[in-house]
Amino acid sequence: MTDLLTVKNLTKSFDESGPVVDGLDFTVREDEIFALLGPSGCGKTTCLRLIAGFERADRGSVEIAGKLLESPDHHIAPQNRGIGFVFQDYALFPHLSALENVAFGLTDIPKHKRNVYAEEVLCRTGMGDYKDRSPNELSGGQQQRVALARAIAPKPKFVLLDEPFSNLDAMLRDSMRKEVRSILKKAGMSALLVTHDQEEALSFADRIAVMNDGKIEQIGTPEEVYYQPKTKFVAQFLGRTNLFHADANGGSEINTGLGRMRLNCNACGKVLCSIRPEHLTLEKATNEHPDEIGKVVSREFKGHDITYHVELNDRKYLVHTDNRVIFEPDDSVVIKPLESAVILEDEN
Ligand code: ATP
Repeated sequence: MTDLLTVKNLTKSFDESGPVVDGLDFTVREDEIFALLGPSGCGKTTCLRLIAGFERADRGSVEIAGKLLESPDHHIAPQNRGIGFVFQDYALFPHLSALENVAFGLTDIPKHKRNVYAEEVLCRTGMGDYKDRSPNELSGGQQQRVALARAIAPKPKFVLLDEPFSNLDAMLRDSMRKEVRSILKKAGMSALLVTHDQEEALSFADRIAVMNDGKIEQIGTPEEVYYQPKTKFVAQFLGRTNLFHADANGGSEINTGLGRMRLNCNACGKVLCSIRPEHLTLEKATNEHPDEIGKVVSREFKGHDITYHVELNDRKYLVHTDNRVIFEPDDSVVIKPLESAVILEDEN
C-alpha cells in the first residue's frame, strides 16, 4: 500500500508551557483507517487541525500524496486541501436542511442528481426520515450523523474524523462504526480518526497511534498495540492489564510471582512485564507448590465473561475467564499463564 498522508516531526506550541503536539511522525496509507488514540488533552485535535490547515505548524510538515500542505514556511488553505472533516461540534450550516447540508459539497455531481444521492447517503447513516429538518431541530447524535454523511458524501480521498461517534448511544455507535467503515472501504477513502475511546479505535481502525502528552508512544495494528504494548502507558491505556517486575536472565523464560512464564523477547536484568487478564487462567489449588497458591478476592460477572480479582503473595492479579462460574470468593487457586508476558520498555 502506498502512503497517502505523511506527517513528519509535526510540532505545535500555543504558549510557554511547551509543545502540545511534539515531533509527531506517522503515515496513513491509501485505503487505510488510522486512529490517533489518547487521553483528553494529549494533543489529538490539535494534530488534526494542523493537518486540516486550521493551525500553523511550528516545525515539521504535512504532505498528502506527495504534495506539501503545511510547514513553517508553507500553508495551503483548508478549503484547498481536498480533505473531508467531521468536527467534534458538527459545524453544520444552521440555515440549511439536513439534505441541503449533505448536498452542499456535491459540486461534482449534476444538480438534478445531487439531492437523490445526498438522500441515499443520509439513509445509510439512518437519517433519511429527517432530511427536511434543520440542525436546530435535530438531537446531538442526529446532527453528528448528518455531519458524517456530509463529510463522506463527496468521497474525498481523505477524511478527518474528530470523535465522530461520541454523541451516539452504545447500540447506535456500534452500528454507525460498522456502516461508516464499510462506506469508507467501499469508496476507497482513507481516514484519520481521533478518539479517546480505546474500544472505538480497536474496532474501527486498521492501525492505531497511541498518543501521550503530545507524543506518539506506539503505532501498530489493534492486535499489536493491545497484545504487544511497548510501554506501560500503552499497556494500561488500551485496557486492564497485570503489571509486574521480574528478573530476566537473557532466556525466553522468567521466574515471576506467578511461577515460570514465557517472555515475548529475550532480556537481561530487572524488567517490567505486562500480561492481559485473558491471557491468564485459574486452576483449583493443590498443595504441590504452596507458595503459588492465591485466593479469589472477588469476581465481576459481566455476562459474556468473568473477571476474577486474585491475591497472591500480597499482590493483586486480574484474571479473565469465560462466563462459567467456577470459583467463589475465598477459594484457593493457582494462576496459570496461557500466553507469553510482554516486556515493557519503561522499567518502572
Ligand atoms: P480532547 O480529547 O479533550 O479533545 P485532545 O487530545 O484533542 O483532547 P487538544 O484539544 O489537542 O487535545 O489540546 C491539547 C492541549 O492544547 C490542551 O492542553 C489544550 O488546552 C491546549 N490547546 C488547544 N488549543 C489551544 C489554543 N487554541 N490555545 C491554547 N491552548 C490550546
